[in-house]
Amino acid sequence: MTSSEGSAAMQSPTDNKCVVLLVDDQAMIGEAIRRMLVEEPDIQFHFCSDATAAVTTAQEIQPTVILQDLVMPDRDGFALIEDYRTAPTIEGVPIIMLSTREDPRDKSRAFSAGASDYLVKIPDRIELIARIRAHSRSYLAQKQRDEAYQRLREMQAQLEASNLELQRISCQDGLTGIYNRRHFDTYLENEWARAVRESGSISLILCDIDSFKPYNDHYGHQAGDDCLQRVAAVLRDVLQRPADLVARYGGEEFVVVLPHTELEGATRIAEAMRVRVEKLALPHEYSNAGGVVTISAGIATIRPNPKSRLQDLIALADRALYKAKQQGRNRTAQSTGNTDSGAAVAEESRANP
Ligand code: GH3
Ligand code: MG
Ligand code: MG
Repeated sequence: MTSSEGSAAMQSPTDNKCVVLLVDDQAMIGEAIRRMLVEEPDIQFHFCSDATAAVTTAQEIQPTVILQDLVMPDRDGFALIEDYRTAPTIEGVPIIMLSTREDPRDKSRAFSAGASDYLVKIPDRIELIARIRAHSRSYLAQKQRDEAYQRLREMQAQLEASNLELQRISCQDGLTGIYNRRHFDTYLENEWARAVRESGSISLILCDIDSFKPYNDHYGHQAGDDCLQRVAAVLRDVLQRPADLVARYGGEEFVVVLPHTELEGATRIAEAMRVRVEKLALPHEYSNAGGVVTISAGIATIRPNPKSRLQDLIALADRALYKAKQQGRNRTAQSTGNTDSGAAVAEESRANP
């Protein structure tokens, strides 16, 4: 490939080249205009004498300006303007009407149909070239702006999509796919504030896999990870309400937020979780809570007032969990109350039946 061929191949419509398409049924006019432009290195000239082929020819050569004869045998110039204006890829190309008629009504009709300019045949060479250049340049500049805006819109859409994905990933626990601790913290804060505003109840369940250290030690870390995934999926599956949320709290601990939920409802959910994990029947020979993987759960419910502290809810659930562990594991235990206000905390535990 020679260097001149190389640069021709690289040429795009953004190069300041004028591409002219003359549509006129008279070959003589075609020749006259061709001669006027032949000396201009920045003007490329094309001629089409068949009105019925004008639109497809224009779509093929992608002119930067169309010189359009007004009176043609098969389709008149006014109708052709409409055709160009509605044809994909050429709808914005400037159209200079060429007419033998110097009638203001023709001019007015041409401009209302969408023509950009009007010249009487045969135009003066200097004037024709100046107008070709002016219209081509403004068309190319407009096209560049449109392309830049289009790219910008595409980039914005991409950015929005990756932001959403990033947001999703930043809320997720990498191993189990459920929410992570960070998202839990934010979510609980919001739901706590809502409960304070609405004087409603909020419940928390802290779940912990029983004897998980020996499980890891005997079955290996990979099996431990698989177990965490299976348990997480079960806990997520038990939840029904859109506002309920389960997250990985730490190593083999999970936490469940239950807005607008009283102790009784929260206990039912904790029990359902415990039973469902047990029914997974994942063998665990080294558990001191039976031959399969089990969980213990601590449940706490608070109806917070503006003085209540969110940490109390977590501390209560933690205390209940500790109790469930102490009482033999594979069971749920409850705490209720408002420790900062000095209210008595009712506690009870439910053993594995
Ligand atoms: P308990 O019944 O009292 O809860 O006893 P436990 O052995 O479950 O409790 P402990 O807190 O002593 O052990 C937790 C173990 O969980 C420690 C570690 O081996 C395991 N662990 C924590 N995070 C991960 C993890 O991401 N993957 C795996 N495979 N194991 C983990
Ligand atoms: Mg444990
Ligand atoms: Mg633990």
